[in-house]
Amino acid sequence: MAIEAHKCNVEGCTGHVVFENADFDLKKPDTIKGIYAYDNPTCNVCKKEFFVVPHYVVIDFNSENYESEILESACMSEVKRRA
Ligand SMILES: [Zn+2]
Repeated sequence: MAIEAHKCNVEGCTGHVVFENADFDLKKPDTIKGIYAYDNPTCNVCKKEFFVVPHYVVIDFNSENYESEILESACMSEVKRRA
């Protein structure tokens, strides 16, 4: 069981968005209110609803020391300008 907490982003709210991430089926997120999401927890103070959604990163993986670095994302217009 793993409990995760995130700070609510509502201005002036000091609440937290708390949920348990243990039961997530990472390959098959549910559809909640029309979007792919694992859960829709609410802030424990203002009750605003949030969504826990799938996300991925691109890493530079070093197989010798098993360290990895997350690559910064760039915008497509920058890529096209170079081409
Ligand atoms: Zn809140």
